[in-house]
Amino acid sequence: MFLRRWASSAAGLAVCISLSCSAPERDGGIDRMEFADDEALEDGVADSALEPIPRIRVPLRPKSRPGGMTRPQLGDFALPAPRCANQTERDGPSRSLGQVTGGSLHSPCRIAPSGPGYVSTNKNGFATDETVALLQWASAQMAAQFPGSPPLVIGALSKVDGGYYPPHKSHQSGRDADIGYPRTERATPKQFLLTTSGNLDAERLWTVLEALLATGKLGFVFMDYDLQAALYQGLVDVGYTEAQLGPVFQYPAGPAVPRGLVRHAAGHADHFHVRFRCPDSDKPDCVE
Ligand SMILES: [Zn+2]
Repeated sequence: MFLRRWASSAAGLAVCISLSCSAPERDGGIDRMEFADDEALEDGVADSALEPIPRIRVPLRPKSRPGGMTRPQLGDFALPAPRCANQTERDGPSRSLGQVTGGSLHSPCRIAPSGPGYVSTNKNGFATDETVALLQWASAQMAAQFPGSPPLVIGALSKVDGGYYPPHKSHQSGRDADIGYPRTERATPKQFLLTTSGNLDAERLWTVLEALLATGKLGFVFMDYDLQAALYQGLVDVGYTEAQLGPVFQYPAGPAVPRGLVRHAAGHADHFHVRFRCPDSDKPDCVE
């Protein structure tokens, strides 16, 4: 199930060369929601009680291995300014107040509907300036490293003023984002799709997470445990060590064990959820 290896085509696209990737698609394109609309499923991430974990180091990329890719290490970077669809309507920078499960959002940035590496037409695409900048920057990293690959589908962020956003338990203060999993097929996705270890593009997913990890702004990532396992095994297969991955992943400790930055949460087989730390400028009113 986890016999996954990463390779690079001449065009720079990530392609999977394991047997699992040549198997027929099994999900048949299960469209549980239009990404333009509110999510219709429970986003089982609440947990204001989740204990924030310390910042962790980005695992160094293994040296080139047969079948693997050589990529530059992430260096120092300055996060570009967010591109907000409502920039001219705002009267100042955003502010995230309170907790993700009981907070609010002021002067939000509405994420531009598309950009390098992503599309987002969810009407509740409001977030902090920092959240939008992080999402756009990580998407652009993926697009640059995998030219021609399909864009990420960015779904729910927060409502215009934040606050309760059913069916979500969190997403209240502009620091949460739902993103469809990168998949191995080349079709441009239009919504979240149920994803399995057989069609998860683990390499592109890791590129996104690696970029976000490098910023030190990532608080938690929630994803289905089986997909977490597939990603973890893919990383081991290309040379990452268990010691490197231990601080990042809950896997293989079990889906209920409060360990790692990447955690299992119900309802995350068709998208993963990233939660960012409070922007420094919004502390202490923003609460992690
Ligand atoms: Zn979510």
